Amino acid sequence: KFGAIKEVQTGETADLSDYKHIWVFAEQRKGKLMNVALELIGEGHRLANEISADTQVCAVLVGNKIDHLAAECFAYGADKVIMIQDPLLEQYTTDGYTKVITDAIHEMKPEIVLYGATHIGRDLAPRIAARCNTGLTADCTRLDVKVSSYIEFAKKKTTLDISTLDPEDTSTGIKQTRPAFGGNLMATIICPNTRPQMSTVRPGVMQKREKVEGATGEIVTYKPTIAKSDIHIDVVDVVKSAKELVSLTDADIICSGGRGLGDASGFKLIQEFADKVGGVVGSSRAAVDAGWIDQSHQVGQTGTTVKPKIYFACGISGAIQHLAGMQTSDYIVAINKDADCPMMEVADFCIVGDLYKVIPQIIAEWDKA
Ligand code: FAD
Repeated sequence: KFGAIKEVQTGETADLSDYKHIWVFAEQRKGKLMNVALELIGEGHRLANEISADTQVCAVLVGNKIDHLAAECFAYGADKVIMIQDPLLEQYTTDGYTKVITDAIHEMKPEIVLYGATHIGRDLAPRIAARCNTGLTADCTRLDVKVSSYIEFAKKKTTLDISTLDPEDTSTGIKQTRPAFGGNLMATIICPNTRPQMSTVRPGVMQKREKVEGATGEIVTYKPTIAKSDIHIDVVDVVKSAKELVSLTDADIICSGGRGLGDASGFKLIQEFADKVGGVVGSSRAAVDAGWIDQSHQVGQTGTTVKPKIYFACGISGAIQHLAGMQTSDYIVAINKDADCPMMEVADFCIVGDLYKVIPQIIAEWDKA
């Protein structure tokens, strides 16, 4: 019903109604699913319900010996799992993963494909999009279901003049929103003429569904056609960098320090604070730019998006680019000398004072509690 014959870039014609269902690239590392994969399954579920009753959310698992991950995908809301396994896919390689996922897309024609905006997702998604002759919106922070401008008009959900609407536009799909111009503008992007629509989505932004133990669904085994000659690199060794030890996206408590620390040694106090409350250390970009802490700790628009249970902002003013990465935290505590700084406006609990006096008091009280 929602199909229309459209020209694609190759000059072939594609019937958009051939494309159905939402795929989520269920990124795993060493047999463990990334949190963002579960968040995207949740978001995919929400979108699928809005698109139509028969739209499914399908988790795409790529790797080797990863059958055990299907149950987790179902528990978090996947209707279907597409399992792509081969010994050559044991390690992530750009060539190998791009090839097998592109082949599967050509064969099964999903309407929407979502990836986490992780290092792997950012590497993979543009290559697959190029091979599918479709668009990609990178780094989305919001997805909405798009209905055709004609249907919106009929439902009086738009104030547009009917003469400006495209009568050919009967497609559904998604509206993809991402920050632009340093976070000062939110750009909404649609992909009207080609399928699948593809987005990378920031970790920590979308909601996981409540886990349903024992949930099941259909597992489709996709046998990939892949040979060693398709992969142009050899992974010789995988070295764990110190950066990987910072797991901001998975932390329940984050203690972040900013320029208000005064110098690099201030992070010793923040580390002590984090150790005491069972959290991890975050930072503002000002602290990173000053060389006080590694960039892997940076929270915000050009850092990591986080959603912990408690976020302590210590000596951080609350610039829009920092807020973009943490303001959906469950509970925000601001510690700042300036009672009028923007962080105080988003905080649930505000402590006005010198962080060098306030934090040691919290640490001391914590021991008594
Ligand atoms: P400041 O704004 O200087 O604030 C320091 C705060 O510390 C002040 O509120 C002050 O009152 C308080 N203070 C001082 N001394 C004390 C004390 N002893 N006790 C208590 N409080 C004290 N920023 C990010 O954080 N993350 C990003 O991802 C990011 N991306 C950006 C992307 C772009 C394109 C641009 C243009 C900017 C980006 N920024 C980002 C930078 C951002 O605009 C701000 O410059 C930065 O967040 C400021 O960091 P800050 O709050 O630590 O420093």
